[in-house]
Amino acid sequence: MKQVSPSATLKLTAKAKEMKAKGLPVVNFGAGEPDFDTPDPVKEEGARALRAGFTKYTPTSGIPELREAVRKKFEEDQGLKYSAENVVISCGAKHSLYNLIQVLCDPGDEVIVPSPYWVSYPEMVRLAGGKPVFAQTSQNESFRLTAEELKKALTSRTKILILNSPSNPTGGILEEKDLRALADLVVKHDLVCISDEIYEYYIYNGLKHVSIASLGEEIKKRTFVVNGASKSYSMTGLRIGYLAGDAEVVKKIGILQDHSTSNPSSVSQKMAVAALALPKSYRAGVRDLFQKRSVLMQSLFQRAKGFKPFKPEGAFYIFCDIEKTGLSSERLCERLLEEANVAVIPGKSFGSDRHARFSFACGEKDIEEGMRRVIDWSEKNVK
Ligand SMILES: *Cc1c(COP(=O)(O)O)cnc(C)c1O
Repeated sequence: MKQVSPSATLKLTAKAKEMKAKGLPVVNFGAGEPDFDTPDPVKEEGARALRAGFTKYTPTSGIPELREAVRKKFEEDQGLKYSAENVVISCGAKHSLYNLIQVLCDPGDEVIVPSPYWVSYPEMVRLAGGKPVFAQTSQNESFRLTAEELKKALTSRTKILILNSPSNPTGGILEEKDLRALADLVVKHDLVCISDEIYEYYIYNGLKHVSIASLGEEIKKRTFVVNGASKSYSMTGLRIGYLAGDAEVVKKIGILQDHSTSNPSSVSQKMAVAALALPKSYRAGVRDLFQKRSVLMQSLFQRAKGFKPFKPEGAFYIFCDIEKTGLSSERLCERLLEEANVAVIPGKSFGSDRHARFSFACGEKDIEEGMRRVIDWSEKNVK
């Protein structure tokens, strides 16, 4: 635990909530979850399951109907063929990732994490006794990990590559040609790939989500695809995540759950079955709404002095180069919160001190008001 830091995202969100509770008009661009309500059919199913008394232990790795629904989802969305024994349900995708890294990573193993990265990856690796090794990506190259950068990070101790497309925090994605180049290296060096695809339905500008696991049998065998209900169906508090991959490893994750958390919440599992059965039009609706917000926020950034945003291709964040403000990312975020009452997450916690993460998982009114304050603040404070 001495090597592990507290989650900066949660810390800043807590401070913003505290200020809001005191009556300050805080606009929250810190959110890491969709703002809209959980869909009605999902809530109905939860109420039904409760009334029917579905409140007892379930199989640790998930109820058969949810494992089957997840199996089917992978086949329908990406043409990925698994059987139910390749699938395990956990208490959120974070839990899926944590368990997977615990099972795969031995002390001293190196895990390549493209940077900027989601806050929890390096800490999860450290908690397993492994060593996170960062592979740099840059805004000029749309935050895409290149084969060259991956090669630079490889050593004889490298075991795992973590990918996250669409990415939190950058909003970048990896297209098929990028993924092919990376997959070749994963296969050549006999690595394992963890592909966190939790934002797969949040993808913009007509781009298409591709899973690295769909690029051939060799890479599929070595890949664990992680996903969940939180972001896709606005079910963050209900804690359902899942992954698919090698059956032996999946079985071990089941054993780890046997002796730690046991099954994910019984009622939440039923709700996830209902969520996965929602018509495809539901996701398209959500995507179009978020695309509109991303365009709005992006256009307002044009007027904010010293802020250079990356145009998001996916997820619901604008990762913004703030170097020209002359402040560190933590100082900038402190000042925006205190002086403009706008909550933003410092890039430092994602591995880049010259960036800040602005979430557009909030209403258009909030985007307009929050960005107006950022613009005003920048006019007064940026040379
Ligand atoms: C939100 C998030 C997760 C975890 O979500 P859960 O609520 O645990 O399912 C995993 N990876 C990334 C990149 C995320 O942003």
